[in-house]
Amino acid sequence: MIGTSTSLPMHSGERQGGSMVESSPVPPECRLCRREKPRKAFDLPVLDGPYESEIEWTVRSFYRCSNCGYLFVYPLETEQYARHYAALDATYHEDHDQETSRYFLIRKALEPVPMSRVLDWGCGRGTFLSAFPNNIEKYGVELSSAAALQAERRNVHIVSPEDIDGGKFDEYFDAVTAIDVVEHVSDLVSFRNTVARALHPGGTLVLLTGNLDSSVARILGRYWYYIHYGEHISCLTERAAQVWLEPDFETVTIQRVTHHKSSYIALLRTVLIFPVAWMFEKLGLARKLRVSAKLFLDSDHMLVIARRKGC
Ligand SMILES: [Zn+2]
Repeated sequence: MIGTSTSLPMHSGERQGGSMVESSPVPPECRLCRREKPRKAFDLPVLDGPYESEIEWTVRSFYRCSNCGYLFVYPLETEQYARHYAALDATYHEDHDQETSRYFLIRKALEPVPMSRVLDWGCGRGTFLSAFPNNIEKYGVELSSAAALQAERRNVHIVSPEDIDGGKFDEYFDAVTAIDVVEHVSDLVSFRNTVARALHPGGTLVLLTGNLDSSVARILGRYWYYIHYGEHISCLTERAAQVWLEPDFETVTIQRVTHHKSSYIALLRTVLIFPVAWMFEKLGLARKLRVSAKLFLDSDHMLVIARRKGC
């Protein structure tokens, strides 16, 4: 499901240093709360996602809002990201369907919701939706045509973000899910407006994303693996999630959860590799060797459940 969101290209850009970037050198305001001018948090190298085939070392700048805590990449190479998501093949989504415990978590969150229609934003191959009974109409937004084709074979109706923005599905859904999507979206305010529009009053939004307030994220800081993924451009604190959703949603509840349990071997590997990568960074060799210092640990996500206002 990762990497299948829309709302990426939201800012006008210009060519600078060979890349499409936003026109202002620093973000003029927090994209989420619009209250504070964000401060530079750190720069991080990125070697994957939209930059995977690039030869040059790419560094992204992260800015943090002192009011809501929202952390985001600026400037953003919007066209590059849009091309990346559209070109993803189904292998990408197969990889993300390997471990499905988070899908159970979200279905459980939806159990109390009377549902006849559900929309999964970033539905991938439709794996999450396919577990719902046949009497529930399943809809999905998916930018990768390869993955969308597989979802359609599983009786998922693929709709475009433009259809939803254009009013074809106003107040149409009982529930909208966004699993591993928010962190890929640059303009979260537009995304919230679109999702709220698709939900009927009282409808339920369930989303899963990384949590900057988790102990893992707070302890690891810039070494938190999650922000090293080239695709991840938006990270929320719990306050940021509340501030973001408040205009259209009520009874927003946030649970701290694990995205998926990692094996002890995988955890040991990341712990052993980290000091080596860290040392390379300190010696100025990280760029040449194309490594970055990051640590993976469990329990660093949030499950957000919110109810559409207006009931
Ligand atoms: Zn803010």
